[in-house]
Amino acid sequence: LTPLANSRASELAPLDRAGDRDESSICQALPQLAEMGFLALRISEEHGGLGLGRLPYTALLHEMAYASPSAAVTISVHNMVAELADKMGSEHVLSEIVPLLGSAEHLGALAISEADAGSDAAACATIATPDGDGWRLNGNKMWITNGISARWFVTLVQTGRPRDKSTLAMLLVDGESEGLERIKIHGKMGLRASETVSLHFTDLYCPGTHLLAPPGGGLRQALFALNGGRVAIAAQATGVAEACMNELVRYAKQRHQFERPIASFPAIQNMIADSQVDLAAAKQLIAYACWLDSDDPSLIGAAARAKLFATESADRIADRAVQVHGGAGYVNDSLVEQLYRDIRVTRIYEGTSEVQRTIIARELKMMGVLT
Ligand SMILES: Cc1cc2nc3c(=O)[nH]c(=O)nc-3n(C[C@H](O)[C@H](O)[C@H](O)COP(=O)(O)OP(=O)(O)OC[C@H]3O[C@@H](n4cnc5c(N)ncnc54)[C@H](O)[C@@H]3O)c2cc1C
Repeated sequence: LTPLANSRASELAPLDRAGDRDESSICQALPQLAEMGFLALRISEEHGGLGLGRLPYTALLHEMAYASPSAAVTISVHNMVAELADKMGSEHVLSEIVPLLGSAEHLGALAISEADAGSDAAACATIATPDGDGWRLNGNKMWITNGISARWFVTLVQTGRPRDKSTLAMLLVDGESEGLERIKIHGKMGLRASETVSLHFTDLYCPGTHLLAPPGGGLRQALFALNGGRVAIAAQATGVAEACMNELVRYAKQRHQFERPIASFPAIQNMIADSQVDLAAAKQLIAYACWLDSDDPSLIGAAARAKLFATESADRIADRAVQVHGGAGYVNDSLVEQLYRDIRVTRIYEGTSEVQRTIIARELKMMGVLT
């Protein structure tokens, strides 16, 4: 792994800072990232990828998030899509598409959310109607990361009546198909170098061979595979938190008040101690989730705990980093000001904190702890 000090000085950090200012996309770094193998991390070796285990994968995402929170989410969403295609794809997808996913031109995106279907994904109103050997798609998706540069969209669709979970399906939509419009969402609070778009499908044709989860059959399995995505977001959060922690300590040692470095005050040392405990605990929860097999049912709860704690503790650490900087942390030439905004969304996407708590409570019910 790249030592932290080097990753901070990497080429990604200046691109990330520029994107925060002008919304330029971190995807401009995709050719170099692809060359280094970052787009093939979670593709099996059998299908031309690196087949990286979840633990080293999350360690890489942590390092990347330290330098660029936007690059980390770009890479994490792409690898989640690649992993899904690798696990659930038809023979056609496995032989013709998955081997391409390691290249910059074949970025992946995950299209589940809609304007009226966020936490309640089953409210999906993007309709897929059978058409010959394939499907015809109509509807809209919202908040889709990587949506400008992506070639492939893993898309949740309704093939039956509204709200019927048993007829939801997952398709791998080719971004070059006719009938797809992508509109960039401007003005995000943070992660401004990451692409976020709304998607509009008008009579878009998707071949039947691109079905990843058939109606009713494989949806549960597909959503289960997304647990890995939650662990990856937890790792993104700890990477940003570690960057905040280092800025906090650096500034506290250098800033003098009352003729002493502020790091010598117990109030500041308490913030540093609390941050270190938060970070250590988050890393342990991530490591435990990584240690479980992908098909272990207890991964659902473990991924929820890791995401909930890592993202909420990262938010606390970012808040302390701004506090320790005083007024200097409240202006936009300070790194902690950006990281404070960047980290906030990790409590929202890939399942809000409230959804993670619901999952944990459901597990406690299954264990008989709650009724
Ligand atoms: C920058 C960004 C990138 C994103 N990237 C993607 C992407 O790549 N692909 C994708 O599909 N989606 C993506 N999303 C969407 C994201 O996953 C959703 O925003 C998230 O799931 C929440 O949905 P919502 O925004 O509709 O909020 P809502 O579901 O409307 O929730 C609003 C509030 O109500 C709470 N709430 C809702 N239901 C319950 C309940 N049952 N119990 C308790 N509280 C509840 C929520 O926790 C939240 O606090 C992205 C979002 C953002 C902001």
